[in-house]
Amino acid sequence: MSDDTPTRKRVSVPEEIELPRMLDFYELQTDDHTQIAEFYDNLRDGQLTTTQCQDCDEIHFPPRIVCPECMSDDLEYVDLPHTGEVLAFSEVRGGLPLGLADHETPYVLGVVDLGPVRLSARIDDVAYADLEIGDEVELVIVEIDGPTDEDRVFYRFKPVSE
Ligand SMILES: [Zn+2]
Repeated sequence: MSDDTPTRKRVSVPEEIELPRMLDFYELQTDDHTQIAEFYDNLRDGQLTTTQCQDCDEIHFPPRIVCPECMSDDLEYVDLPHTGEVLAFSEVRGGLPLGLADHETPYVLGVVDLGPVRLSARIDDVAYADLEIGDEVELVIVEIDGPTDEDRVFYRFKPVSE
């Protein structure tokens, strides 16, 4: 048999460009990557939590590994309420960094008073013009499709449906 048939190979061009990890703004959430992995584990299980110092009782947000009040590292995770009041809010209209470019603008960013702590988060399902200080909002757990294989989650809020 003649052996002058050339070898054939095939290459392909990726259909979409994968987002480099540097442009992914969400934290890696496992024990290997963060010392507050328990916060993300709890959130994945449906509960918003944070750390409370067992020495001075201070409740922190975001969760800590050392108490900023008394420097104790004896901290325990405690449940936070899933509803709170809008304390302040603003609207993001544009200028998103590259990694967030697929997020739709405008969107509302607010400070939510949960009682034990105040935190800032995106507030979904409401236009800036329709939101008021004092409005009641509730937790939304957001699953992140990412350039990693981890099941990652984050939190947002939305107005309490009446
Ligand atoms: Zn403390």
